[in-house]
Amino acid sequence: MIYKRSSALFAEAQKYIPGGVNSPVRAFKAVGGDPIFVKEAKGAYLYDEDGNRLIDYIASWGPLILGHAYGPVIEAVIDKAKKGTSFGMPTQIETELARLAVSMVPNIDKIRFVNSGTEACMSAIRLARGYTKRDKIIKFAGCYHGHSDSFLIQAGSGAVTFGSPNSPGVTQGTAKDTLLAKYNDLESVRELIRANQGEIAAVIIEPIAGNMGCIVPSEDFIKGLRKLCTEEGVLLIFDEVMTGFRLGRGGAQEALGIDADILCFGKVIGGGLPVGAFAARAEIMSYLAPEGPVYQAGTLSGNPLAMAAGLAMLTELNNRPEVFKSLEDKTAYLHEGFDKVLKDKGVPYRINRYGSMMSVHFTEGPVVDFETSAKGNNETFKKFFHGMLDQGVYLPPSAFESYFLNDALSYSDLDATIEALDKIDL
Ligand SMILES: *Cc1c(COP(=O)(O)O)cnc(C)c1O
Repeated sequence: MIYKRSSALFAEAQKYIPGGVNSPVRAFKAVGGDPIFVKEAKGAYLYDEDGNRLIDYIASWGPLILGHAYGPVIEAVIDKAKKGTSFGMPTQIETELARLAVSMVPNIDKIRFVNSGTEACMSAIRLARGYTKRDKIIKFAGCYHGHSDSFLIQAGSGAVTFGSPNSPGVTQGTAKDTLLAKYNDLESVRELIRANQGEIAAVIIEPIAGNMGCIVPSEDFIKGLRKLCTEEGVLLIFDEVMTGFRLGRGGAQEALGIDADILCFGKVIGGGLPVGAFAARAEIMSYLAPEGPVYQAGTLSGNPLAMAAGLAMLTELNNRPEVFKSLEDKTAYLHEGFDKVLKDKGVPYRINRYGSMMSVHFTEGPVVDFETSAKGNNETFKKFFHGMLDQGVYLPPSAFESYFLNDALSYSDLDATIEALDKIDL
């Protein structure tokens, strides 16, 4: 496949944008080579600047669950744009999206819209601290909650791909209030709570992790975590930026049968426009300004374009919940196909999957936390990634990222993907 124009565009971008990209994982650092510049996309396909067609498995890192340029979402955005894109005043559509989101997600009464998942998580911990009057938070190594200071402590995703889990610019003062536990290890959480009795405001977790590859919590771990938080008066925050409106109408809470205290959203809730949100029971949300004392604001928060895209997307998902089953079936099909091919190749591998999230790790043992995920052989991963790309399959360019299937993918796309894997020498 030829990437001449992409490479030229990347060279030009690097003159004016640090590293040529506006978000690090796009730069292909983990896998080498120049990133692909996309020109347009429709359904399950990306079309790049060199005229290549790629089958897409990242869906803009999750939001485009029904495929690219999905008709009802695009029409809703165009309609709204003609009437003005932002007013800095309340609009009815904000309430419409809020009402729909609250009706779909278990255990929440109110929701506040922001512009990204980062903002949602950042605001959620401020709310948790304001509500509990405690300062410290616990996060898990390898979980990513956006790029705000408090979370850049062994964050997954782009932050580990670059080998800089603790970013310069995050102060010691901030870092000391973020305590690190091990995913799937309840004892590590219990010890931190015991050592910081009465000081922990919240535990934040990706209920199905997607930023160290896809990692599923054991039932004992996640149920135990809920119980422990309740006993200790610690708020449990589910960062559902990836899982929300992807694993089902009610996200990971519904899938796992566990209620969290605060929920964070992003990705699917914006239908491909910049939207994040956080939500909780009324009692907790009442601490938020202007109702309560915890400050949080945004010039473009809840702007009509973003709300129109989100409303069109959630309306589709709410009306057609069979989409979630269809996505899960497709992902299971890909999983089985990959399994068969990789087994034949005799290379050590693990495939983790939950619903329409999945990841492939080239390692012997089970992948259950950051440490075991980091054991994957990156040289094999690079061959795998570039081998697939050369055959027109766009997978996440890092082993620390999950696949996000979109429902525009057909079974013949999946077959083509499995055949592509069969052709690679690993
Ligand atoms: C993507 C992601 C975020 C950050 O969202 P942005 O919109 O990129 O700021 C936070 N948490 C999780 C779990 C994510 O996957």
